[in-house]
Amino acid sequence: MRVLAASTHVYNQRMPTTYIGLGSNLGERQNYLERATAMLAPDVTVLRRSPIYETQPWGYADQGTFLNQVLEAETYLSPRLLLTLLKAIEARLGRKTRVRNGPREIDLDILLYGDQSVNERNLIVPHPGLHQRAFILTPLADLAPDLRIAEGRPVSQLLANLDSSGVDRYQP
Ligand code: AMP
Repeated sequence: MRVLAASTHVYNQRMPTTYIGLGSNLGERQNYLERATAMLAPDVTVLRRSPIYETQPWGYADQGTFLNQVLEAETYLSPRLLLTLLKAIEARLGRKTRVRNGPREIDLDILLYGDQSVNERNLIVPHPGLHQRAFILTPLADLAPDLRIAEGRPVSQLLANLDSSGVDRYQP
């Protein structure tokens, strides 16, 4: 399904590898992850998917457990257009909840976009919570353990310094 207008898709001449975080804790959680992934095409090509993890809520504890997954992907979209696509997919999938860090049908985040940094209003890349959150670093480490992120430290090393309890492989 084409979510963005056709004219927007060729923007960058080189195709950076991007990592996209998915989360859901309402309704048919795995189905939301799968539908969101499918809706990234054709503008975003998914190369690899991490396993799915069931994770304890972060920030706002009084809600159901999340399913989290990370995708490794390539795209010609700029970070800004990629965010527009992710927000459009969230809207298409019926995301209604707006409590910060609260329950949501689907949450899509740009975790990393090649080696680029973006620091704009409403768009910060690498994602600011990335290096502190085991529920993101665990699936990211499955795909790219040696990738150097915060202060040049590899994902696996950052993860080793975090408490990963409450992040478990999902058994449907
Ligand atoms: P969320 O509640 O996770 O949907 O995020 C709320 C807002 O965070 C979004 O509407 C974005 O404008 C903003 N935001 C900032 N940086 C990012 C990022 N790297 N990926 C996704 N959203 C981001």
